Amino acid sequence: MSKGKDFEVAIIGGGIAGLTLAIALNHRNIPVKIYEQAPKFGEIGAGVSFSPNAVRAMKKCHEGIYQAFERVCTRNEWSSKHNVWFDYLNGYDKTLKKSGHQEAVFTISNSIGQSGVHRALFLEELVKLLPSDMAHFGKRLNHIEDGKGSKLVMHFEDGSKAETDAVIGSDGIKSMVRQIVFGKDHPCAYPTYTYKYAYRGLVEMDKAVAAVGEERAKNSCMHMGPNNHVLTFPVNHGKILNIVAFHTAQTDWPDYQRLTRPAKQQDALKDFEGYGPNVIELLKLTKPDLDIWAIFDLGTHPVPQFNKGRICIVGDASHATSPHHGAGAGFCIEDSAVMAALLSDKRVQTSEDIEAAFAAFDSNRRERCQWLVQSSRFIGDAYEWRAPGLKDDFKKIESEINRRNSIIGDFDIDQGCKDATDELTKHLDRARL
Ligand SMILES: Cc1cc2nc3c(=O)[nH]c(=O)nc-3n(C[C@H](O)[C@H](O)[C@H](O)COP(=O)(O)OP(=O)(O)OC[C@H]3O[C@@H](n4cnc5c(N)ncnc54)[C@H](O)[C@@H]3O)c2cc1C
Repeated sequence: MSKGKDFEVAIIGGGIAGLTLAIALNHRNIPVKIYEQAPKFGEIGAGVSFSPNAVRAMKKCHEGIYQAFERVCTRNEWSSKHNVWFDYLNGYDKTLKKSGHQEAVFTISNSIGQSGVHRALFLEELVKLLPSDMAHFGKRLNHIEDGKGSKLVMHFEDGSKAETDAVIGSDGIKSMVRQIVFGKDHPCAYPTYTYKYAYRGLVEMDKAVAAVGEERAKNSCMHMGPNNHVLTFPVNHGKILNIVAFHTAQTDWPDYQRLTRPAKQQDALKDFEGYGPNVIELLKLTKPDLDIWAIFDLGTHPVPQFNKGRICIVGDASHATSPHHGAGAGFCIEDSAVMAALLSDKRVQTSEDIEAAFAAFDSNRRERCQWLVQSSRFIGDAYEWRAPGLKDDFKKIESEINRRNSIIGDFDIDQGCKDATDELTKHLDRARL
């Protein structure tokens, strides 16, 4: 553990990336402030699940993050399914006459199975790990100027400004910090539509059990089919079933400014016309008025670099991915662990050292994070029998998921941090030449 630093870090945005990073830095005695545009920390009411790499990264950031996760985490209810990530089902099975039990076509497992949390509850637990005066709300970053001396000056939309030594942008998929670093005209300044959107619902577990049977409701399932897929997993200690129903769209998303738009349950049923009874019954459990969530990512125009001087981007700001691997938030936490290892390194003291740390972060993280973005697109298509070379060959789909999941889940965060500090050595040496 470092003895503390003479520099202060400003984190822009308090989502999973910003909060886990703030906790990790604070735990290492690095002065940190969070600037969040919203009036308070908050997450949408939906589920998010984590794979083994994410859990190891939580522990690496701060044991308290892992304990927070354990307090709100829900796993598959059946003990026989504790290691099951998803049972994969043929959602388009025409031989199934009514809803209820359905055999899986294959099962994907890992060491922790499906570990899902309700986003808002998890965030609430994370907030408890931070001193209350660390966060500044209603602060929507507008631009950053290189101030006098060695300070950066952040300007906010409410007209206020604040000085800092380094800025880390964890301000999500539409990141202003990314735009500041690359300019508003750079292709990576804006995410692009993946031509998939999702209906999301949280439904009471007893209704879900009545609709699709206990095994399918209380344990995670992925219903596959042409151009659509539906995933379900229990959250809120099994009281609620999280449903996310994806559809591949033929037309452009109408408005980049708004990544959601209102829809009706009827729209979802129309998108899933011809699907088997379990998928249809799940959709009928959702509310009559729904939102459609457009799936955007940074896969078409990847960010050329995560760092510029003493500004760096992490989390969705730097590698927003479609959600098909269920790993975007986990990679945010890996980012936090690696960034904390770099900034707490005892050699990092001056502005130049911070620049070297951010350059090392970029060298260490960019390839893995950008791989995830591309792989997630591929695997989303695999669930919808659209992936080149796989189509609806379940054996091939299963083997491709296992291969890619092991790249995600087997990641050794200790080694990742060590590799990053080796990179830091190179960047410091270069800076001191
Ligand atoms: C449908 C769906 C399902 C998903 N499921 C999973 C899953 O199961 N597992 C998984 O690991 N990942 C999942 N993901 C991905 C995951 O949700 C994201 O990777 C993660 O939440 C990103 O966190 P973040 O902190 O980087 O960004 P965000 O959560 O977007 O937080 C950004 C924060 O910055 C603030 N902000 C924005 N602009 C400014 C500004 N200019 N100034 C100040 N503050 C600002 C925002 O208000 C917000 O609080 C899913 C994503 C989607 C869309």
